[in-house]
This record gives sequence, structure tokens and C-alpha cells, in this order.
Amino acid sequence: MFTDLRGKKVLITGSTAGIGLAAAKALAAQGAQVGINGRQPYESVASVLSEFDGLEGDVMYFSADLSQSSQCQKLVDEFVQHFGGIDVLINNAGGLGGREGLENIDDAFYDRVMDLNARSVLMVTKYAIPYLRASAAQSGQTSCVISTGSIAGREGGGVGAGLYAASKAWLHDIHRNWVKEFTQDNIRFNIVSPGTIDTAFHEDKPSHVKDTIANSIAMKRFGRVEELAPSYLFFASHACSGYITGQILDVNGGQMCP
Ligand code: NAD
Repeated sequence: MFTDLRGKKVLITGSTAGIGLAAAKALAAQGAQVGINGRQPYESVASVLSEFDGLEGDVMYFSADLSQSSQCQKLVDEFVQHFGGIDVLINNAGGLGGREGLENIDDAFYDRVMDLNARSVLMVTKYAIPYLRASAAQSGQTSCVISTGSIAGREGGGVGAGLYAASKAWLHDIHRNWVKEFTQDNIRFNIVSPGTIDTAFHEDKPSHVKDTIANSIAMKRFGRVEELAPSYLFFASHACSGYITGQILDVNGGQMCP
């Protein structure tokens, strides 16, 4: 079904664990050339790379802390140097960055949350655009950007997570703007918006809080990372979604039905 992903050059940020790693493995299983990323040095990701053993596609790890613009540029440069271009960019790196009520938010907290969730996407996308434009021109099909949004970006987030939620709403919205700027270049922009997914993102929560959250979901359970991955394949595949851009796909077990 996703056969046109074979050989595609896919850069996926924040992919040493969780949703990003599951999506990267799904792409590699389709024969894509996949660049994975995290902040860790190359020496410490051997076990992550071993998860790709036996999968068809090429995989390379690129270390970069995407909270910093210079590292975003470095990541794109190194990926292109290795693979020779970019067909699909998946902006997945992100996280809560801590919880603070409004009255405790200071500049350092603001910068931490916004740099991780907004600046990272802005800058990686900025540096990737010339390559995505060239990819579309060369193939005569679309290239694409897929970003990981959040249910929080739709409903405001929990107490203390307002800035994180706002950063994801920011992300949902800037995609709409990029549709206006770059559709002429045949670049598509779509969001995968997870609900509550069982990853390290929730590791600080006690089990009774997790139970309460699970009970608030129509399907009465957290999502699994493998249940997110096919949505990235769908948006990455021109054959599947070549006429779809500017959309948000909610993968949330019925936790919210916008
Ligand atoms: P995770 O903590 O398991 O994975 C986060 C990944 O991002 C890791 O690979 C980590 O190394 C990487 N990362 C973190 N900071 C980075 C930085 N500064 N530079 C580069 N890489 C960095 O979390 P996850 O749940 O898989 O989250 C992935 C994405 O999904 C995030 O954008 C998150 O906001 C979003 N999300 C998650 C949930 C959920 O319930 N898990 C819900 C909605 C949205």
C-alpha cells in the first residue's frame, strides 16, 4: 500500500524513542532511507540502531539538540550530505518541558518550552525547504512536511501545561500558513495529532492519574506508538495523500472529537 516510500529520503526528528522511533521503524520497513535524531551522542544510540536490524531501509543517526537554531541547520546539512536530499521531513521532536502555572512562568521556562516545540520545527523546516522543493520538482510529485501536534493544541492542555499546549496550537496554525506559501512548490504540510500515547512523555504520572486519564478516553486506554506510525506513512506517501495538505489527523481513541 505504501510502496512509493521505498528509497524515499526521510528525516525524522526526535526519533530515538516513543512515537518517533515507531514511525522511523515503520518507514524503514517500507524501504525508506531514514535519518533519525536525538540529543544523545552517536556512541550511546547503539541499542536504538539495533531496533532497525532486519528492516529493509537504510538508517543513520544524527545527533542534534533542536532547541538551538544552529543545530537545526547542522542536522539538515548532515542529513543531506549523507542521503543527498530530503523527500519527507517529519518534525516530531518535542515535549512538555516541565509544568508551571502562569504565575510561575519566567523567561527561562518560556524559552525552554517554545524552543523545543516551536523554534525546532520552524528552523528545521526552514532549512529543509530548498531540498523539499527540489525533491518535488525532480519527482514531479509532492514532497512533504509532517509535524507531530497534540490534542493539547486543540483543547488547551492540563494545568501547568498551558505553554506546551499553546506551542502545539502554534504548530497547528503555522502549517496552515506554510500551505499558502509553499503549495506552489508542491510541498504538502500535515499534522499527526496524538491523544494520550504510552511513552516516556507520561513517565512522571502516578498510576492512579494514568487510570483517570485512560477512563476519560472513549477507548478506555492509552494509545500505543505502533498505532501512530501508519498515519505518518499515509501522509508521507504521495500515492496515498498527494491531494491532502493543511490537515490535522487526530489519533486519540476518541479522547476528543474536534
Ligand atoms: P518521547 O519522550 O518518548 O520521545 C521524544 C523524542 O524527542 C526522543 O527521541 C528524544 O530524544 C527527542 N528529543 C527531545 N528533546 C530533543 C531535542 N531538544 N532535540 C532533539 N531531539 C529531542 O516522547 P513521545 O511521546 O514519543 O513524543 C514525541 C512527540 O509527540 C512530541 O512532539 C510530543 O510533544 C508529541 N506528543 C506526545 C503525546 C503522548 O501522549 N506521548 C501526545 C501528544 C503529542
